[in-house]
Amino acid sequence: MQYPEWIWHNGAIKRWADATTHVMSHALHYGSSVFEGIRCYETPNGPAIFRLNDHNKRLFASAKIYDMQIPYTLEQINAACHEVIRRNNLTKAYLRPFAYRGLGGFGLSADTPIDVSVATWFMGPYLGDGVLEAGIDACVSSWQRFAPNTIPAGAKAGGNYLSGQLIAREARRLGFGEGIALASTGLLSEGAGENLFLVFDGALHTTPVSAALLNGITRNTIITLARDAGIQVIERDLPREYLYLCDELFMCGTAAEITPIRSVDGKQVGVGKPGPVTRQIQDLFFGLFDGRTPDTYGWLDPL
Ligand code: PMP
Repeated sequence: MQYPEWIWHNGAIKRWADATTHVMSHALHYGSSVFEGIRCYETPNGPAIFRLNDHNKRLFASAKIYDMQIPYTLEQINAACHEVIRRNNLTKAYLRPFAYRGLGGFGLSADTPIDVSVATWFMGPYLGDGVLEAGIDACVSSWQRFAPNTIPAGAKAGGNYLSGQLIAREARRLGFGEGIALASTGLLSEGAGENLFLVFDGALHTTPVSAALLNGITRNTIITLARDAGIQVIERDLPREYLYLCDELFMCGTAAEITPIRSVDGKQVGVGKPGPVTRQIQDLFFGLFDGRTPDTYGWLDPL
């Protein structure tokens, strides 16, 4: 992989190779990090970061859950995101703000210093070339999501992604594009790193945050755009078999954007290709970046 030249680390812009950490950093051993994934898009008015403030607010919320005091303000992290994209001369980019327990104690409850970085790099479609048009084949994972009273799914914390890795790696090993997990209740939760939407009779159905999922910003964007367009959105518990029975199905996330799902566990979903509601949601979402959808909520943060 070709890495970008510059990275923001603990308050300064450094060369990528210089942003190092000690092998005994707490986060490496215990997963004690929190992070965000944000995209910057090219728009007719120049590059714009999508929902930057909302993402970084979630970064601080994740840190709060784990008693991590980020030694910068929200405004400073937002500014670091702008700076690192500019310094690398990127326009279409993915941003990774990251705060982690560094070197300063080996006990689980150690109050270590909190180190912070913001990296950026170019990222195309997360689940592969052409998937936004063609859709993917997904499977239900044999791995369940963690129960809400074990690890909080509402925090975007490094350790959570051990679950995501098991789900994603199993899916790839079996030849699927992505894995979908059930919650500890047995009901549908979310994909390895994406939220889920099912379409029944023109209405969107999505799993509730109680299903051990990350309250995704793309999910919130879709709910808002859909309701504004007069599409009904229902947040509800959903059983596994509804994946097979719905008219259309897609997953969403900052990285995955809006990826249609054409089959689950080898069973065709609807007509086996992206349906009209999925297409409409894609148009509304990507329309934010090419100017077809007005930015009513001030989600675009110009670079
Ligand atoms: N669920 C999980 C587990 C994720 O990692 C992500 C990606 N951050 C999402 C859902 C989607 O969240 P967002 O739309 O905020 O990127």
